Amino acid sequence: MAKVNAYFDNLVPNYLFAETAKRTNAYIAAHPEKKVIRLGIGDVTQPLPPVVVEAMKRGCDELGVKETFKGYPDYEGYAFLREAISGYYASFGVTVAADEIMVNDGAKSDAGNFGDIFSQDNTVLVTDPVYPVYVDTNIMSGRKILYADCTAENGFCAMPDPSVKADLIYLCSPNNPTGAAYTYDQLKAWVDYAIANNAVILFDAAYEAYITEENVPRSIFAVEGARQCAVEMCSLSKTAGFTGTRCGYTVIPHELTVDGKNIYKLWYRREATKFNGVSYPVQCGAAAVFTPEGQAQIKENLNYYKENARIIGATLDELGIPYTGGVNSPYIWFRCPNGMTGWEFFDEMLEKIAVVGTPGDGFGKNGEGWFRLTSFGDRENTKEAMERLKSMLAK
Ligand code: PLP
Repeated sequence: MAKVNAYFDNLVPNYLFAETAKRTNAYIAAHPEKKVIRLGIGDVTQPLPPVVVEAMKRGCDELGVKETFKGYPDYEGYAFLREAISGYYASFGVTVAADEIMVNDGAKSDAGNFGDIFSQDNTVLVTDPVYPVYVDTNIMSGRKILYADCTAENGFCAMPDPSVKADLIYLCSPNNPTGAAYTYDQLKAWVDYAIANNAVILFDAAYEAYITEENVPRSIFAVEGARQCAVEMCSLSKTAGFTGTRCGYTVIPHELTVDGKNIYKLWYRREATKFNGVSYPVQCGAAAVFTPEGQAQIKENLNYYKENARIIGATLDELGIPYTGGVNSPYIWFRCPNGMTGWEFFDEMLEKIAVVGTPGDGFGKNGEGWFRLTSFGDRENTKEAMERLKSMLAK
């Protein structure tokens, strides 16, 4: 008799985005004349940079010609892309070899699948609030999960507790949902903890391109000792508008071993079994991101989002509402005014000013009473939403 994975019963139904969509749609149906502004989305809105589009077209053309046609790509990604990524790391002073990089179809896949190579009896540590993928995939595998509290008191940057024993640690900096980012010294404390506990850090750097502050590392591998204990996942989704195009990469240092086993080799074995690589035109487009022209073009998009973030942050400053994020991140995370819960504030914003955000409650217990806005919207809409927020809270 077939049996399903009973651990799926332990998943908490993720109502967050379904529920925000349901409430928003009900509002739109009841108020068709109102212009609803959505600042809840975690998806980008600016188009792909022209240099990326051109490179993807060239890749397609090559596939249509017998002499340049390509079949299955390498599991680890084409060398031209891995070398471009290695050069990108070098541009901010981090040494990562091309053969330590595995190209993938986005950071979610590797963040979700990396657990495949680890035994079920590892204890997992995540920070709370948390990007739900880390939690749900480990629940699916039946692992024990511990939570490190991110609160206003610690600036939403939980630090390791030496009395807690964890084997696999998921860190996301700059963070989704809080926008908070670890400094070098804070990351060094996590690296020291991981080494002392023979633990592995799974570091999610999906938002590294938004970092503006000097003391915030763009890679865990900027931190001394990290090569012994960490893997890094990164993505072109929020950096270069690849949410629909799909391309990311994971860095696994040669020297990273667990139980005497080389982690790169184990992960390669896993990928060779379950993954057939990223399409050639997409890898051509991804490599174009790392050219000087590509970097200049993505900067325009990043600056556009950063300016939106600044506008949101300035409005919250004006309103005297405490928040994190927005500086090294496209996310702004603030305390709901007047002691409201996230859902109460969501409803009030929707009803009174037709602006949609995301209640923090869906990201963990420390998200209760907090709220996430994103800077991925249109500039005029972002400005208008902030004017509406000011008028709502001024009353
Ligand atoms: N990691 C974090 C922290 C994210 O917020 C997201 C997307 O929202 C991802 C990974 C997934 O990115 P990708 O589109 O590369 O799968």
